[in-house]
Amino acid sequence: MTVSPSVPAGKGRVLIVGATGFIGQFITQACIDTGRPTYVLVRSTPRSPSKAKAIKALEDKGVTILHGVISDQELMEKILKEHEIDIVISAVGGATILDQQTLVHAMKAVGTIKRFLPSEFGHDVDRADPVEPGLTMYQEKRQVRRLIEESGVPYTYICCNSIASWPYYNNTHPSEVLPPLDQFQIYAYFVAGTDIGKLTMKTVDDIRAVNKNVHFRPSCNYLNINELASLWEKKIGRTLPKVTVSEDDLLAAAAENIIPQSIVAAFTHDIFIKGCQINFSIDGPYNVDVGTLYPDETFRTMDECFDEFFMKIENKHVAAEEEITPNHVVEALPIPMCA
Ligand code: NDP
Repeated sequence: MTVSPSVPAGKGRVLIVGATGFIGQFITQACIDTGRPTYVLVRSTPRSPSKAKAIKALEDKGVTILHGVISDQELMEKILKEHEIDIVISAVGGATILDQQTLVHAMKAVGTIKRFLPSEFGHDVDRADPVEPGLTMYQEKRQVRRLIEESGVPYTYICCNSIASWPYYNNTHPSEVLPPLDQFQIYAYFVAGTDIGKLTMKTVDDIRAVNKNVHFRPSCNYLNINELASLWEKKIGRTLPKVTVSEDDLLAAAAENIIPQSIVAAFTHDIFIKGCQINFSIDGPYNVDVGTLYPDETFRTMDECFDEFFMKIENKHVAAEEEITPNHVVEALPIPMCA
């Protein structure tokens, strides 16, 4: 096992890739909050005006913006050396997981990186075994893991299970792939994005997390779909229609191979039919529970996260009062998403 060279706690210079992404925004904010020197790699042309705005906001908070892509090894070596980066965190999305291989080669060549957190932020991909098309992404994440382990760059894999702060009612994730709602009782762990960020940043210079999977299993957010649904129904003050989706329905939706719906179906099947978040115990030398590392840290509850979603809906209502029909409130049921 490679021993992590020492980096003074809270002082390491951090490079974040994917800061404008869904998960990356939480990591980046948490990194800024720790006061560490923060560098963010962004692609040269922001892909949308909102991303350009997000980059400007980061700059205003004192983040150093660097331009480029992780698949450019020469550039990455230059950046790592010139800015004396200690810690690299990647939160690139599912389509560019393998691009991280070049980043690993660059970190190995430079030889000074004290910790690398690759783009994981979901299940333990060596244990979970979703059907396709989810499996391909896991195979790619496994491939990146093996390369990191071979490279000798010290690493931490964040296995934070299902994100709680997902826009559950958003049509991006179609209602056709709603998880089962009455006959299955399999549980999942839900973690607020802000907690993913906060606790991830605690691991980056924690020697106890070096070369380990760090698992997030907040007991306060251990819920099955029925419990999740009824929690939401309490918030909105009414009962929603239940749609039962069988295992066969989920497998059929996955087999259609329509992206991203089929990936959602594959992960939903893995979580709520196969129980991939709960069917193993956290033991052995390479696994640690984040709650054991930081027993004093509390997690935001799903109840609090749903309060926040509800507030957003209420605010939208106020803003568009004239156009609202009485049944405007959320029609779709929550869809947990995980990777
Ligand atoms: P997004 O697609 O939202 O964001 C990806 C980010 O990476 C963007 O900022 C993008 O930049 C940047 N990026 C992509 N490729 C490159 C590259 N080659 N060089 C530099 N920057 C690059 O990703 P997500 O946040 O959805 O996913 C991040 C990780 O989190 C994944 O591993 C995913 O599986 C996991 N995840 C886990 C969830 C859970 O419930 N636990 C939920 C969602 C994701 P640009 O702005 O230019 O596009």
